[in-house]
Amino acid sequence: MHIQSGSGLIKRCSECNRALDKGICSIHGKTIGEYDLRIKAVFDNGIKTVDCIINRELTEKISNMQLDKAIEIASISLDMGDVLEQIKQIVCGRYYLIKGYMLDEKMIAESIEHTTEIAYDKDLCMDNMQNWNLLKTKWCE
Ligand SMILES: [Zn+2]
Repeated sequence: MHIQSGSGLIKRCSECNRALDKGICSIHGKTIGEYDLRIKAVFDNGIKTVDCIINRELTEKISNMQLDKAIEIASISLDMGDVLEQIKQIVCGRYYLIKGYMLDEKMIAESIEHTTEIAYDKDLCMDNMQNWNLLKTKWCE
């Protein structure tokens, strides 16, 4: 499982909620926007890959970092990338059980639970990954 760029602390357009790219909405142009937290992940089961979107609530849960704290970190360092680095330090190398549903070829996470390596069943994982709605995965860079 890989964490993609565009993860961590991001800004969204106040009008259409799209993620801003360097302060620019692809529809509405330059805008101040509003902060949000998310993780965009890529899962790979050896056969195919799927993008997974992890929303603010679940990102806060697994990273133990609330949005307010993320904004504070970024305002001190002036680098939103620092938030993602801190999230990676917490989640990378750990195992998670992720449940979700598919929407437009993307998996939308609905729940994430920390699990142990002992509970990690490679065969079960591969079976479930055919459905892309129940995954046990180890997070890495
Ligand atoms: Zn917009």
